[in-house]
Amino acid sequence: MSAAATAALCTGAPETEGFVDSYRELATPVLKQLAGQDFRAQWQAMADLGVLRLAAPDATAPGPVTRSLAMIEGIGLAGADPGLCYALASQIFGMQFPLRDALGADAWRAVADVQEGRELLCHALTERGGGSDPFSMETRARRDGDGFVLDGAKTFITAAPVADRAIVFARTAEGRSPFALSAFLFPLDLPGIRRGETFTKTALPTVPMGELLFEGARLPASALLGQEGSGLAVMASTTAWERSLVLGYALGPMRRLLARTTDWAAERDHFGRRMGASHQVAGRVSEMALALHRSRVQLYAMAARLDAGTPARQLAAAAALTKISVSEDYVRMTEHATALSGVRAFLPGFDLAADLAAPMAALTYAGPNDLLRVGVARQLGLPVEN
Ligand SMILES: Cc1cc2nc3c(=O)[nH]c(=O)nc-3n(C[C@H](O)[C@H](O)[C@H](O)COP(=O)(O)OP(=O)(O)OC[C@H]3O[C@@H](n4cnc5c(N)ncnc54)[C@H](O)[C@@H]3O)c2cc1C
Repeated sequence: MSAAATAALCTGAPETEGFVDSYRELATPVLKQLAGQDFRAQWQAMADLGVLRLAAPDATAPGPVTRSLAMIEGIGLAGADPGLCYALASQIFGMQFPLRDALGADAWRAVADVQEGRELLCHALTERGGGSDPFSMETRARRDGDGFVLDGAKTFITAAPVADRAIVFARTAEGRSPFALSAFLFPLDLPGIRRGETFTKTALPTVPMGELLFEGARLPASALLGQEGSGLAVMASTTAWERSLVLGYALGPMRRLLARTTDWAAERDHFGRRMGASHQVAGRVSEMALALHRSRVQLYAMAARLDAGTPARQLAAAAALTKISVSEDYVRMTEHATALSGVRAFLPGFDLAADLAAPMAALTYAGPNDLLRVGVARQLGLPVEN
């Protein structure tokens, strides 16, 4: 009942809502068949539905970014595992779009087949010592003939244990100069590259996380993205894209959470009446609807701006605000659902079981919210540094 009611809250452009619904319908039977299959099989099944394919602009349809966001929301609404939705959104928005739109035709051609799901990308920035401060990185690439030799390690990388290619950031000069870092894109089966530790996560446990080790790995000149020393600019592009839209993965799970919490409040008898007859309960459900509404409006607005051709780097502040807002709304929404579900929130076998770890993790990845707040204040003119 309330799944239809939550759909009534989704008042975007009819064509966009149509995309969300058609992907929900397409994915529903596929997901039933996939139950219990491994991450890569689920990834391939979503690729076969076209979820990883970036559309060409078409005046009669929503823009390519909006379409990708609607597909991700649709498969999440159909019940796709949140870890799978997160990994797909991370690759599409944090890697595929920036490679296609910001980094140029050559970088895109090298990886365009990822759209068919046969190859998987990862974005390797963080090191064991930390992720927020890129200038603390110790991975180094030194010139060797017309190529580079790479040494170091990247840790806590989504999909590293299963990825075929990686975007890797490395130091090509010493110090904290804005030109000290460079970005590379290369296959992970080159000599001198090994997979290190694999990490079991409490958040989004189905998507693997791991480490990449580089021991004198020789990279061809074509692996360099942009120019030597332009790593920070590449990072600005990939992170602005990611912050703008990666939380799109949560829209489907948020809608499902609102629907099942509303159903529970509407059906449960409590104190001699329906639980949802309490104004306090109704208030919490409304807060959940507000959180979903705010998140949806902001994410689709970012998609529309990117579809209109605004360069992602010009959207850095808006992207940070969107990432902060949606991740914190996702946390708040889950807190309300947890309160209304009582003990059932803590019993994994129950439909009302709450997943608090996934929303909390969103406060950290794609830039910790505390640090993004510092960046926003700096853009407003405060003399504040990280
Ligand atoms: C689910 C998940 C997936 C991830 N996937 C990837 C991936 O694919 N690729 C990748 O490269 N990394 C990935 N990461 C790692 C992520 O990018 C880092 O965790 C993130 O950059 C933060 O780095 P850190 O964990 O070292 O935290 P820290 O940098 O240690 O920061 C932790 C906290 O310390 C506080 N803090 C520290 N310094 C300051 C300061 N100057 N001002 C204010 N507060 C401060 C803040 O509260 C901050 O949240 C992932 C992380 C998670 C949780």
